[in-house]
Amino acid sequence: MEQYDVIIIGAGTAGLSAAIYAARSGKRTLVLEGKSCGGQIINAKAVVNYPGIKQISGVDFAMGLYEQAVEAGAKVLFQKAVRMELADQKKIVATAKQNYACSAVILAMGAKNRPLGLEREAELTGSGVSYCATCDGAFYKGKKTAVVGGGNTALEDALVLSEYCQKVTLIHRRDSFRGEWQTVQELKERSNVEILTDTVVTALEGDRQLTGIRVRNLKQEKEWVLPVHGLFAAVGQIPQSDLVRDLVELDDYGYIKADESCRTSLPGIFAAGDCRTKEIRQLATAAADGVTAALAACQLA
Ligand code: NAP
Repeated sequence: MEQYDVIIIGAGTAGLSAAIYAARSGKRTLVLEGKSCGGQIINAKAVVNYPGIKQISGVDFAMGLYEQAVEAGAKVLFQKAVRMELADQKKIVATAKQNYACSAVILAMGAKNRPLGLEREAELTGSGVSYCATCDGAFYKGKKTAVVGGGNTALEDALVLSEYCQKVTLIHRRDSFRGEWQTVQELKERSNVEILTDTVVTALEGDRQLTGIRVRNLKQEKEWVLPVHGLFAAVGQIPQSDLVRDLVELDDYGYIKADESCRTSLPGIFAAGDCRTKEIRQLATAAADGVTAALAACQLA
């Protein structure tokens, strides 16, 4: 079995930041990633709020992290961690190909998009329903689209889409937004953006392709059909914590409970980034978590 000091599960911002610090501390560092490097940030057209970097594309940001981690000496393998267990003082992480042993594990699996929970949502995903404006927005050039959500993702999706869609309707279930005030102001200034607050989507229209959405204003109890070709759901995330569901404590929403040092309920296991319980989930806080978790893990490894 291959032996490492630190194994990091997930190669998003938190995981790769942890890898840079663990490898630079001279630890044998392995990063396991089931998909592609970079995590959610690769879908961001432009990152403009990472301290010290005025503007960078999400892909360039992720590539920079990856290269920095590998140059520091971390090994990155594109294998999905499918099981984790404890054996004596060691932690064993299994993929479909191989088992790996280590002294400390950093869980940095991130989170995945939450569905709206509408009937036929899965069926119409890819045929009008999407969870990523940066990935799929270009298909709707010159067309009418809607975005659901009131966080930064929804606001930024609406901004991106408004650059080339005929019209963008932003739909939020409350009348105040979680996302940045400044982005809301920018949206209000765009002539092709309509903002519907206190409004929810109740049904999807169209046979094989989305043709519209049924929406309801919760205050006026009014319901109508909005003709749109594309619906972008941006209603938050679900933490990817299934791997450790029976090993470490989770909160009611499935986030891994960990303190400000990123220590979980099990010694030697740390959680960093969007899969961890915390107040603020930003690129900068994901990186900060990775650094914190790595330095704590290095004390054990
Ligand atoms: P979020 O901040 O959790 O916002 C989710 C939004 O979806 C909320 O407005 C919520 O409404 C709404 N919502 C949840 N379930 C819903 C449902 N079933 N139907 C309708 N609406 C629903 O998620 P996010 O926007 O994906 O952002 C996640 C984190 O990443 C945040 O911390 C955010 O600041 C960060 N982020 C940062 C950047 C950046 O730094 N540039 C970009 C994107 C995201 P309520 O408000 O009523 O709960």
